[in-house]
Amino acid sequence: LRGIMTGLVVSLAILLGAGTSSREPQSPARAAALRVELLATPLGIDVARPRFSWQMVDGRRGARQTAYRLLVASAPSLLRPGRADIWDSGIVAADSAVDVTYAGLPLEARHRYYWTVCIQDAYGRQAPCAAPSWWETGLLGGPWRATWIASSPAPLDTIAREGADTGASHGDGRPPLLRRSFALSGTPVRARVYATALGSYRLSVNGVPAGPGVFLPDWTDYRARLTYQTYDVTRLLRPGRNALGVVLGAGWYASRMGFSSRRYAYGPPPVRLLLELHVTYADGREEVVASGDTSWRAAPSPIRVSEIYDGESYDARLEQPGWDRPGFDARGWHGVIAEPSPPAMLQSQAIPLIERTAELHPVNHWSAAPGTYVFDLGQNIAGWARLAVRGPRGTRVRLRFAEILDPDGRNITQVNLRSAKATDTYVLSGRGTETFEPHFTYHGFRYVEVTGFPGVPGPDAVTGIVAHTALPETGELRTSDPSLNRLWENILWTQRANLYSVPTDCPQRDERMGWMGDAQVFWRTASYNMDMAAFGEKWLADVRDGQTAAGCFPNFAPNFLGVLSCGAPGWADAGVIIPWTLWRHYGDTRVLAEQWDAMERYLAFIRDSNPDFLWTHRKQVQFGDWLPAGSTKSWGETNTDLISSAFWAYDASLMAQMARALGKDSAAAAYGRLFERVRAAFDSAYVLPDGRVGAPFVNPDSVRTDYTQTAAVLALRFGLVPDSLRGLAAQRLVDDLSAHGWHLTTGFLGSTYVLPVLSETGHDDVAFRLLLQESYPSWLYEVKQGATTMWERWNGDHGDPGMNSYSHYAFGAVGEWLYAYLAGIAEEPGSVGFSQIAIRPRWAAPLDSVRAVYRSVRGDIGSAWRRRPDGSIVVDVTIPANTTGRVYLPADRSPAAGAPGARFEGMRDGRAVFAVEAGTYRFVVSK
Ligand code: BGC
Repeated sequence: LRGIMTGLVVSLAILLGAGTSSREPQSPARAAALRVELLATPLGIDVARPRFSWQMVDGRRGARQTAYRLLVASAPSLLRPGRADIWDSGIVAADSAVDVTYAGLPLEARHRYYWTVCIQDAYGRQAPCAAPSWWETGLLGGPWRATWIASSPAPLDTIAREGADTGASHGDGRPPLLRRSFALSGTPVRARVYATALGSYRLSVNGVPAGPGVFLPDWTDYRARLTYQTYDVTRLLRPGRNALGVVLGAGWYASRMGFSSRRYAYGPPPVRLLLELHVTYADGREEVVASGDTSWRAAPSPIRVSEIYDGESYDARLEQPGWDRPGFDARGWHGVIAEPSPPAMLQSQAIPLIERTAELHPVNHWSAAPGTYVFDLGQNIAGWARLAVRGPRGTRVRLRFAEILDPDGRNITQVNLRSAKATDTYVLSGRGTETFEPHFTYHGFRYVEVTGFPGVPGPDAVTGIVAHTALPETGELRTSDPSLNRLWENILWTQRANLYSVPTDCPQRDERMGWMGDAQVFWRTASYNMDMAAFGEKWLADVRDGQTAAGCFPNFAPNFLGVLSCGAPGWADAGVIIPWTLWRHYGDTRVLAEQWDAMERYLAFIRDSNPDFLWTHRKQVQFGDWLPAGSTKSWGETNTDLISSAFWAYDASLMAQMARALGKDSAAAAYGRLFERVRAAFDSAYVLPDGRVGAPFVNPDSVRTDYTQTAAVLALRFGLVPDSLRGLAAQRLVDDLSAHGWHLTTGFLGSTYVLPVLSETGHDDVAFRLLLQESYPSWLYEVKQGATTMWERWNGDHGDPGMNSYSHYAFGAVGEWLYAYLAGIAEEPGSVGFSQIAIRPRWAAPLDSVRAVYRSVRGDIGSAWRRRPDGSIVVDVTIPANTTGRVYLPADRSPAAGAPGARFEGMRDGRAVFAVEAGTYRFVVSK
């Protein structure tokens, strides 16, 4: 690599985009992508002082916002300066476009507010105001008119009491249908439903689904926090008779969960519903229909059983056509019973819903045995299958879901799902062509096995439904190497598969929990791929809910094990690392303010039992450097005390930064000192004068006493190696990688930082070797084996079959290097929310091109490079309006000149550095 760089000179060969001008009559700038509380047009949010953000759209070089004026009104017609009746911020001379906090009149519950923002451009000229947007408040903590109800007798209660398994034959476990018929005296001008459940509900109005969401409410610690959803049902209602229909399933509340395999991990049976419908007529009259009155009726649904892990069993013969429409005769139904209010705090839904996001048609299907058919979607996903079938009444079709095939290559195997049955059963009604999708279960799968099908299924019998929390996707990355592209896609698919209102470790086996270590290592990559801001804030509330009285952060959230699973180094630390990552990526400080006290308690919890500044006193479980290559132990060979202290130091350094961002200067100084103390203790315990980092593994079973890659990587990444030894320590790491034939020995923790550490210590060439390594263990090894999602284990094809997920994003943390180092889209030191962008691409043979876009909160950032036949490299850079950047390009001679908007600043570390204003630029690096 160094050789290639010799003699390179950078020139700004072609300049794209309009030049600066202050002469146009009207500013062409405008604000777009308006967001409230991190969401576009949220319906029903409970935030008294919401945050606003927008992006400046302005193609001119050097475009920036010099002032803004934010207007909020109770009607679109009032949205003008001087007329906005709720809030007029006045002209604020600032470039702020994220984290702008509402400061108008007190907001009223259940109101729609309209807003716009009018910005001034770089020349101080007014741009047209943004197209108006809106948000709607929820109940804002106000009282509910509704009270809780359950079906009587409560069917799922029976299962819980009997502790019965979820065998499809179990008749008593049928999730109930709840129905309420009512009359409206006219056509509503506005109608909203506010609803939630303990369990999982699906709401329909006059037989039409009230919204696209499934698995509602969100997964939270239902003992502490419960979200309700708001539906705009205005268009679904009509004068005269109407009907509300609810199917009430188990969801995370009542399904068996995790290791405990206990049902009702978050509270007692039965599953229950809280719902109110507010109808407003043109004359301002309002009517409310609420759960709790005596007019609700209940009956068992055609779902015999449906749980998260095991699947759904549905008997279409039990359907009652029209049950959720007006005019249905519900005389045979029974009443509902009142239930006490649970202790949880009720909060509005604050993140996008779990929705169907794509349908996949099988790429192949075959008969594996007489009557057994296997469908291959060609892609491992999370979701379920839609079955289309025609046949005699009573025919029982069974779908079994799997990520992999038996070694025979014909039959599926569920050997890696542990106890999860991942089986759906459909019994035909016999009425024409029937389609079936399950209601309250999802599976992680690529293959669907169909048995019991009447006749021979055609390719259309099975359709894969992709479903997950539908976060906006924000990243794109393409290279000249198809394997690398596949790796990037695998990371993205794995992320999609593991967003189920919490970030889960895996979507298929009897686990699917919000493991904190997995989340923290992946969060930065995740934030390039998708807008994780709102989702992250929601989950951090779950993390806080799981913190113990002593301050110990949980190892997974929502946590139902309490003190039994908290405080694992690298896992619990997510409670500090993720807020920091969110703030860095999105520039929003509220997440820090919300988490601050909890983080302080966590830091105090560690400090209290470790007076010598080494985190060695732990009563909690630990996972070490989970699942490293080449170790027979899940927690690996890296000294776990070393890992703990490294994360403690890291936490302290992040706390210092976050304290500064919150204006807590004395706390910043105190955490700075804490970092220095832990670092000093770490150095004397683990850093040798010859640059080795490590200590003998303390476990008596261990045969290894060496200095692992992960030890060096963590110490280098977290700034724990004295400056004088950094070069040496990095060289030792490189030597170890070389000794392993350019292979990793790292697990979840070490693998996350290894490539960034190599790049930051001047070893890009080694980073490329590891990235492009195709033999085991390596990222591309699994790609070459045909993986379509990220494996949990490096040896997914030959490891422990029982604990082997093929959709685990932790090792996908390499995505950060692809965006931030290979394409080189990163930030200048001290920048948050990509307000000051650093573009620092890296190239090496055999790659010929890389092209990436990151749609940041400030706008689209682009970085692309390609090699021309003459060996020169063309680099295209886009810096969005209202930001500035620096471009760092490998060279060893300075360029002839700068160009408008791009100023050559000098040579630094073998790179020519340009300060750039907003705009699009082309650089050429030639010999
Ligand atoms: C999960 C991991 C998780 C771990 C904790 C596993 O069962 O699948 O991804 O982080 O437990 O060690």
